[in-house]
Amino acid sequence: MTGAVIFVAPVVTMDPERPDADAFAVAGDRIVAVGTLDEVRAIAPGAREEALDGTVLPGLIDAHMHMERAGLKALVHLDDGDGVDRYIEAMRDSFDDDGPTDPSPEDRVRALERVQPLLHALGFTGIVDPAVRIEEMRGYQEAHRRGRLTMRTVAMPYLEIGSEATPDVDAVIAHLDGTGVSTGFGDELLRIGPIKVYLDGEALKGEALLDEPWDASGFRGRQRISDEDFARLVAWCAAHGWGVGTHAVGSAAIALVASEYEKAGDAVRERRFQFIHAYLETSAESIASAARSGAIASLQPSIIWHNGSGLRAKLGERAERANPVRSWLDGGATVAFGSDGPFFAFDPRHLMWQAVTRRVAGESEPLSPTEAITVEEALAAYTTGAAVAALADHHRGMIRPGHLADWALWGDDPRRVLLDDLRRIPVLRTDVGGRTVHTQERA
Ligand SMILES: [Zn+2]
Repeated sequence: MTGAVIFVAPVVTMDPERPDADAFAVAGDRIVAVGTLDEVRAIAPGAREEALDGTVLPGLIDAHMHMERAGLKALVHLDDGDGVDRYIEAMRDSFDDDGPTDPSPEDRVRALERVQPLLHALGFTGIVDPAVRIEEMRGYQEAHRRGRLTMRTVAMPYLEIGSEATPDVDAVIAHLDGTGVSTGFGDELLRIGPIKVYLDGEALKGEALLDEPWDASGFRGRQRISDEDFARLVAWCAAHGWGVGTHAVGSAAIALVASEYEKAGDAVRERRFQFIHAYLETSAESIASAARSGAIASLQPSIIWHNGSGLRAKLGERAERANPVRSWLDGGATVAFGSDGPFFAFDPRHLMWQAVTRRVAGESEPLSPTEAITVEEALAAYTTGAAVAALADHHRGMIRPGHLADWALWGDDPRRVLLDDLRRIPVLRTDVGGRTVHTQERA
């Protein structure tokens, strides 16, 4: 096989049919063989061989990363030589800063050029940007046109209901209908995802929509779009090739989303409808409904890491089950992990550790361990699960023949290290489509 390269290293494939391998071969932008070294040599005879010092994992996908905003913030807060460790600190210290207010198209391309290597240094080869406004979409398109996009990006269009351009649901529908494209349009580097809709408010503001009131006042939270409008928008999208990703934090919002998605039929699976956040008092019935409809639970361990303490202060015992990842998985739903970066913590090693330990910032006691998952399940949520959210499960998320050659070399196998060491495993190399986009020496 001309031009093929055989990489020799322990491989965590995330492929249920062959979870571990000793080698894999890449030709062009694809993986062509995975297995024992002899098996791989037989499929790619004469290929150059390269031994790697570490463990290979599929490239991770952050299913909820505001990457262009992350890049704009990087332009403001980083100096030229700063790497990912400094970036993580800088984003933590600038939580409330939204970045520059009126960036030019040129700024947006520069922002993406600045931030992509930082995210590749964490093992990411893909992201889903969960709320892309028109200017941001232009930024992604321009970066792609110039050949500067190295992160596989799924952009979820956000048309704000109540804004001047889209005052109501009818206006949103008219905009979506106006160009003839829909969810899935694009290529392997830049693709249009489901639209983003906000159904309820934020938990720490006490505005997530709950079945039980927040407190003695009887207030149950804030509903940002009426039942009728939400039902109409979901039904229209399902009938016209658009997926829907709905911000629904509290139990009552999640239940409303579940019931409308179930009415939407096959479109839910095909167009990758999502529950976004879906972490507060989520009912077993909503989870069962999601499993039936095929909607994705797009969950962020980062939000619980940051909000856990505040939720305990507001809700006491009711906060303990927050972000019930164990229940989502046991209920048969597809779980995709993301971060809501750059605003919340986005280092996937830290977030996998959080999902396993249920620890929260500033508290000595973890949240209820009944909702904890394993490292392997957390990895799946960042690979095979997130690939579903990225409309790419047939060719990303695993090291498997025919899949895109998106992979990362980790210093150690995250499944085998002590849990506290998981957060410190270096990512030594990242490849996207067979092209190296990050390298780092072992310390
Ligand atoms: Zn977000």
